Amino acid sequence: MVYILLLATEKDFISLKLKVKKRKVESEKFEIMIPINSLATLAKNAETNNKAFFKNIKPKQSHKTDELFHKINDEVFSKINCLECANCCKTLGPRFSERDISRISKKMNIKPSAFASKYLIIDEDDDYIFKTIPCPFLDSENYCAIYEYRPKACSDYPHTQQPEILKKQKITIKNSFTCPAVFEVLEKVKQIWE
Ligand code: SF4
Ligand code: SF4
Repeated sequence: MVYILLLATEKDFISLKLKVKKRKVESEKFEIMIPINSLATLAKNAETNNKAFFKNIKPKQSHKTDELFHKINDEVFSKINCLECANCCKTLGPRFSERDISRISKKMNIKPSAFASKYLIIDEDDDYIFKTIPCPFLDSENYCAIYEYRPKACSDYPHTQQPEILKKQKITIKNSFTCPAVFEVLEKVKQIWE
């Protein structure tokens, strides 16, 4: 069912059921394979191995590494329903750029300063982040109310679909503690690579 955004005032904004899908989720997709409550332990157990895996890849293999990661990323996400998970939105906060704040506040029909004052704080790195976690735009069915104009950090997550994965190895290993898809991608890539 698709709900149309008819009102754009901030008051009404959050309560709207904007049924935009967090990821393209087809009905035949499976539930996530790894229970979220086991993920941190599994990721911790795999951490040393994951670091060693990346350490053994030579810079000249960067293109080959990207190709494999992107292929496996697509396979894994074709089987994972992010709406059954939403662990990233529940436990991590995206960083907001000025451009994010400008875009989102414009769509919400409020001033950027009002948006920042209501939803954001500045962290120790001088970045804007949410005041509260889980994300205030995540609804009870795990849909994102601002999906079409969400922060870039959200649309880039979890980075296993991004180029230059070798430069993102630290964040990829870190994300394997939060995102079951990243954990799965790493496990499959290691199996194929070895
Ligand atoms: S943590 Fe990963 S699998 Fe879960 S909702 Fe986020 S991107 Fe999807
Ligand atoms: S803005 Fe949307 S995608 Fe980003 S953390 Fe919140 S609910 Fe998730």
